[in-house]
Amino acid sequence: MQRNDQPVLLVLDDDQEIVDVICTIGAQAGFRPVGSAATTPKELQTALAASRPDVIVLDLQMPGQDGVTTLRYLADAGVPARVLLVTGMDERTIGAAEQYGLRRGLQVLGTLQKPFDPDDLLAQLERAHAALRPITPADLQNAITHDELMLYYQPTIRRFADGTWDVAAVEALLRWKRPIRVILAPDSFIPMGEAHGLSRAMTDWVIQHGVEQLKGWQASRLRVGLRINIAAKLIADVAFPDRLETILAEHALHPDMLTLEVTETATLDQTPETLDILTRLRIKEINLAIDDFGIGYSSLTQLFRMPFNEMKIDKSLVCKIPESKEAAIMVDALVGLAHKLNLTVCAEGVENRETLEMLGRFGSDCAQGFYISPPVPAAEIPRIIAAWDQKQRPAAQADVG
Ligand code: C2E
Ligand code: MG
Ligand code: MG
Repeated sequence: MQRNDQPVLLVLDDDQEIVDVICTIGAQAGFRPVGSAATTPKELQTALAASRPDVIVLDLQMPGQDGVTTLRYLADAGVPARVLLVTGMDERTIGAAEQYGLRRGLQVLGTLQKPFDPDDLLAQLERAHAALRPITPADLQNAITHDELMLYYQPTIRRFADGTWDVAAVEALLRWKRPIRVILAPDSFIPMGEAHGLSRAMTDWVIQHGVEQLKGWQASRLRVGLRINIAAKLIADVAFPDRLETILAEHALHPDMLTLEVTETATLDQTPETLDILTRLRIKEINLAIDDFGIGYSSLTQLFRMPFNEMKIDKSLVCKIPESKEAAIMVDALVGLAHKLNLTVCAEGVENRETLEMLGRFGSDCAQGFYISPPVPAAEIPRIIAAWDQKQRPAAQADVG
């Protein structure tokens, strides 16, 4: 049975047998398959106009018009369909064709070498089918269960009296590795998850994986703290501080290795529960930072009344300080204010050396940003820390050598 709302799969191959096989598998994956042996631009144009495909399976070796020419045609014509490349050619050639397609702005789903395993093709097409739908809370729940989420880590550096900085902690930043070669940034799914009751599942996942990673680094003698972002909704869950304490105890981690970053918006509701939770977290010696400070939501009273011990100044302010006198005055003043309130200061969004030097002069205690390192997979952290240390203390390294 074919339904009108089924996405269309256009199979372009000169071998009718292969077209039939791919069409059968495409139907299994939920597509309405259309086969074509179009080889000239005119035939291709007709096939595209007749089928209006969502996904195209393209054979790179076709008589008359080869696959790269077809890719060029698709890019020139702005065809929005996603493309899966199939060929009997060697991996390097198919890889080059894929790169060409990607660089021309086509959505290349992947490549498949002939003779292909029908199960591989089915899996690829099923993923392509799934990706055509907008993400739903059920998808996110599924991603949490099946470990499609992953953490990137971004170092935070701390300033010493001699003006040098060392890596003190890493912030865990959530990513969603979609099956179709895409890594989603948190802003594209966290708000949806929070709105559909998935805050706790997401945060538990982050804490569990972050803490295990921290333990792994400790085992290889890498001493860094861990910073975790906390969803607004959790600030209403009175059981959260105890759960967190248990997890830390199970991993034999001292609570002050952990900093929870809470965005200003999340703390706006100064309900008794919020105060209860935040205060108990501090009593348990877990660090609390007010994240994205300075973008307009917080009141100073809020900062004063809540038991934070760090102010994290928002990147939109920090990244402007080299050019904007106003931004520099504000960041300088915020650092002074935080210190008067007994808070340490972390400035996020440090994109160049000049910004870091200015922050040093203002007295900022910690800094974070692309200049130091972008968020990276866990495996890259040891190398990044070593490279940063080397950059900070080249003289000391030279003395040793
Ligand atoms: P955030 O906690 O303020 O994290 C900093 C964001 O700024 C990160 O974006 C990071 O990639 C980006 N960034 C870092 N350095 C620079 C820089 O020098 N310049 C610029 N322009 N940007 C920089 P990302 O990873 O996309 O995260 C966005 C936001 O998503 C985070 O903002 C945080 O609020 C939220 N988030 C991330 N992971 C989690 C999580 O596990 N739970 C919750 N509840 N929220 C999370
Ligand atoms: Mg943060
Ligand atoms: Mg922030």
